[in-house]
Amino acid sequence: MTQQAEQQEKLEFKTELKQLLHIITHSLYSNREIFLRELVSNASDAMNKLKYDSLEHEDKLEGDKTWKIKLIPDAEKKTLTICDNGIGMSRETIVDQLGTIARSGTKAFLEQLKQQQASERPALIGQFGVGFYSAFMVADQVTVRSRLAGEPKDQGVEWVSDGQGEYTVQTIEREKRGTEIVLHLKDDALEFLTEHTLRDLVRRYSNFLEHPIVMDVEKSTEDGGTEIVEETLNSRDAIWLRSRSQVKDEEYTEFYRQLTHNQDEPTCIIHYSAEGVQEFKVLLFIPTHRPFDLKFGEPKLGPRLYIQRVLIMENCEELLPPYLRFVRGVVDSSDLPLNISRELLQQNRRLEHMQKDLVKEILKELRGLKEDDYEKYVAFFRELGVILKEGVSNDYANRDTIADLLLFESIKTEEGCYTTLEQYVEAMPEEQKEIYYISGESKSLLARSPHLEAYREKGYDVLLLTDPVDEFVVNGLREYKEKPLKAADQGEQSSEEETIPDEAKELFRGLIDTLKEKIPEVSDVRLTMRLRESACCLVSPEGAMTANMERLMRQMGETSNFAPRRILELNPQHQVMVQLLELHDQKNDDPRIETYARLLYDQAVLSEGSSIQDPVALARRINELIVRDTQGQPKAQSPAPSFTPGSTEKPS
Ligand code: ADP
Repeated sequence: MTQQAEQQEKLEFKTELKQLLHIITHSLYSNREIFLRELVSNASDAMNKLKYDSLEHEDKLEGDKTWKIKLIPDAEKKTLTICDNGIGMSRETIVDQLGTIARSGTKAFLEQLKQQQASERPALIGQFGVGFYSAFMVADQVTVRSRLAGEPKDQGVEWVSDGQGEYTVQTIEREKRGTEIVLHLKDDALEFLTEHTLRDLVRRYSNFLEHPIVMDVEKSTEDGGTEIVEETLNSRDAIWLRSRSQVKDEEYTEFYRQLTHNQDEPTCIIHYSAEGVQEFKVLLFIPTHRPFDLKFGEPKLGPRLYIQRVLIMENCEELLPPYLRFVRGVVDSSDLPLNISRELLQQNRRLEHMQKDLVKEILKELRGLKEDDYEKYVAFFRELGVILKEGVSNDYANRDTIADLLLFESIKTEEGCYTTLEQYVEAMPEEQKEIYYISGESKSLLARSPHLEAYREKGYDVLLLTDPVDEFVVNGLREYKEKPLKAADQGEQSSEEETIPDEAKELFRGLIDTLKEKIPEVSDVRLTMRLRESACCLVSPEGAMTANMERLMRQMGETSNFAPRRILELNPQHQVMVQLLELHDQKNDDPRIETYARLLYDQAVLSEGSSIQDPVALARRINELIVRDTQGQPKAQSPAPSFTPGSTEKPS
């Protein structure tokens, strides 16, 4: 027996590891590319450990101060080798670490796995990773050769396994310190031998790792031949780890473009380093344009989460609330060791704390932009304000801060200009106690609404809300600086408005009763002093859904009769009302009263921007009026002439 054979041992994996390996080899395919990220991260960790160790024990470097991770694809042997010159492993470490599940993260992964359906497993593995064992997703045999830095050359170790339950270890000669992992690739995993796949994977997952990841590639030479050169595949430049003064504007822009695939410049760059209980680096961008795929409630967005420069999640939704989902960038939690990181998702407290901090910084940045570069802020708000607004109803803690970031059109703002709630309140006349708004489809339609007539006369401003989400904003906000928000087309007139004289009430009582009977669509008919030029308008009962909300619900496919019936308000000073009253006094069952009642109702519906139930009936009534109105005129007395249609054929 040779000495080596004596030292070769055949060992079994621990039970839970067997389960894990079974799952890995049998059911995880779609995410298997992450094996490279895992192995490269281990290599990088091993190098960092030695770097640290060598501060005190320089001899452990064995005279080699270079650091690199090398990928060696071998098409003939169907192997991919990942080599590092890190700290390496002793025989004990290998048995200890690679024969059991050493990491608490992997244990958590297994726990989760037990509770999940098989179909959800691939997503899980992306989030957790299973470290070294992920190698068995692509390889049917794995050989690890290693030697602990600073140990004699004959103290190397070789570990071999097919991932089926057993492994062998033996002591070997090994010249170089560090570890090489040889993956004998499965037949359906040969893509991981191609240069462009490896390049892609390194760029995607390990681009910003500080150590170079190199590979031999064929390059053409100037004289037309080819040569093999060692190329570094990762950019290594994690600009978020530098301080702001060390990053040039162009570098930010380039990184932003690479990250978002946008071609524009970011509106804001938020770059800082959080210190204290938790330490993390942040580089966030507020884009200039609204991403085309950013829809209402779009879920899968969030900054990239890195742990020590290694990409853990492409979109970490947990890091930002949905109303800031347009913010892109990177969060690098550098104080956590990689193996804790995989559990991070479950430790929501940590993420919550980070989220709070990010939100605070983003809102501060936006406030600064609004104060320092208002035009740029307006441009931002036009694109992304509609998403930011959601925060008013979703983020209670920051509601007032977000409210101050909102821009509104109003009956007093010029075309293309805006007011803020603060400006609105400042400009309120002393006797005005409420903030008025009216919501609907377009500014021009709203601005003509009969409801606004009295507000205009008093010099009150009214906010014009045209985004569907505005309904949720005003409902979420309710008041600003102790001034309640109130829909101009809703409820009782405010106490400060003129009250209706008793005399008028008495005078109109009979007509109102008749109109109630003729217009079953409304819940009530009453007089109002809020109108000037218009004869009538519709209002919602106090606290009920506004007309705009009702339209939105219908657009969203709501068909049930959910909306409360409206109230028809009449302007007692309008000529139409005066004459209608006279007609009613003379003959309260005059058939014209019904026609006029219908016309009044239809015009009230149209003027608030809603559509009427029966436009044909409206047209018929208007035509009747025209005919009646022109009957006294000489020409109108002749009977309607009959025309025969003309021929469209050309004369021959
Ligand atoms: P993790 O890296 O999260 O600890 P792994 O299962 O990937 O979990 O690795 C288990 C252990 O094996 C590591 O903690 C480390 O001690 C050791 N190891 C793995 N790869 C290497 C390597 N390339 N160099 C040195 N040690 C390694």
